[in-house]
Amino acid sequence: MTVGNPRCWWCGAAASSGEHKFKRSDLVRAFGDGAWRGPTAVAHLADRVLAPQSSRAKGLKFEKSLCHSCNTARSQAFDRAYDALADYIRDSGDYVLSTGILDWNDVFGDAWQDGMELLTRYWVKHIGCRLAQVGAAISPGMIEFLDGSSNLRHVQMGLEIREDVVAVMGHLADTHGESKHSLWLGPAMGHVDRSSGVVVQMTSHTGINWLRLWYDYDFVDPTGSVSFGDRKVELPRGWSIDPTSVVADCRVCRPEGYDDE
Ligand SMILES: [Zn+2]
Ligand SMILES: [Zn+2]
Repeated sequence: MTVGNPRCWWCGAAASSGEHKFKRSDLVRAFGDGAWRGPTAVAHLADRVLAPQSSRAKGLKFEKSLCHSCNTARSQAFDRAYDALADYIRDSGDYVLSTGILDWNDVFGDAWQDGMELLTRYWVKHIGCRLAQVGAAISPGMIEFLDGSSNLRHVQMGLEIREDVVAVMGHLADTHGESKHSLWLGPAMGHVDRSSGVVVQMTSHTGINWLRLWYDYDFVDPTGSVSFGDRKVELPRGWSIDPTSVVADCRVCRPEGYDDE
């Protein structure tokens, strides 16, 4: 939420650029560049699946919260690292899914540590835009991390495999001819400081297909950590809906069984 002239949360200049909630290249990769509508363009899980009308739709952008320079030149290397991961999941996701191992060397090659650190900054930038959108207090420590002058602080995040998304996307592809690819943006939940009215803690997630990044931001607690700092990342498997019941509950197969939400 911004009132008056929004400021770039990263550098303080006038904000002119709305960071895409999803990178446009991701959307095109997942859905093609056209209009996306259809009976299956609905949320099957508690989380929202994005069913945008076109990849240039304004609803896909966060409100203006970064200046042009921070959103482009300053974060270009972060964006490239993210693209490398998205490409890798598209091309080799089945392997990662079956082994439960994400090897950064397979994504970034010998410079995997640099790649993984740039990717972490991409996600911190994403989180910062999300924080700016809900009017949260953004920790200077987070900005120092983006600038490369500090270790990660105030953000804890991890990667996991979501088995319920595997089940939903597999069913939608096999039975309903939908894309095997999906992008996820979880609902944001947080705490507001009573005296200032400012959001000081936020938990949410984002994902490429079944690969979920969960994160927890805390303005007060300086702890920072990632679950994926080693070269070979063992991905935990989780779900919020029993994967075996997802198909039985498909509301495209059985539309009569559901009340309006
Ligand atoms: Zn800026
Ligand atoms: Zn179905």
